Amino acid sequence: MAFEDLLEAPVVQKYLHELVGPKGMPVAVSPPDGEVTDEELAERLDLELNDVRRALFILYENDLATYRRVRDEDSGWLTYLWTFDYDNIPENLHEEMDRLLDALEDRREYELENEFYLCEVCSIRFEFGEAMDLGFECPECGSPVEAMENTDLVDAMEERIGNLRSDLGVKA
Ligand SMILES: [Zn+2]
Repeated sequence: MAFEDLLEAPVVQKYLHELVGPKGMPVAVSPPDGEVTDEELAERLDLELNDVRRALFILYENDLATYRRVRDEDSGWLTYLWTFDYDNIPENLHEEMDRLLDALEDRREYELENEFYLCEVCSIRFEFGEAMDLGFECPECGSPVEAMENTDLVDAMEERIGNLRSDLGVKA
């Protein structure tokens, strides 16, 4: 996939947004060619320096940016020269999706292995054991709690799991 296409892919946009947040997005979606300082980026993108630094650091922690330090010979100050490296995005995404798949599968097991009771007034759900301890009465409003089907929820989860598996090329 061409680099520009990769950056525009909704799944990549979403991934970057989750990493750096809305304030960091201008930094994340316009990686410059070659090295750049945080101050140059802040000026170019008209952003607060702190927001730029925060975004850069998050990208660094996720192996999407590197830096090298250069000491200014006159002032003695250190300058950080940043390089964006988005080659790891596909691999990072793959790991994210793997984690999500594991979490979904655990959650599905939990849904399948438990019985649930619902207070329809408060929309609070209880596990069978909890509901029994409460004498099948909602602790908030005192209404009786009713056995609840979670088939729709499990079906929706299975559909998501199936989609994720096929995206990841995992066999069921
Ligand atoms: Zn209630």
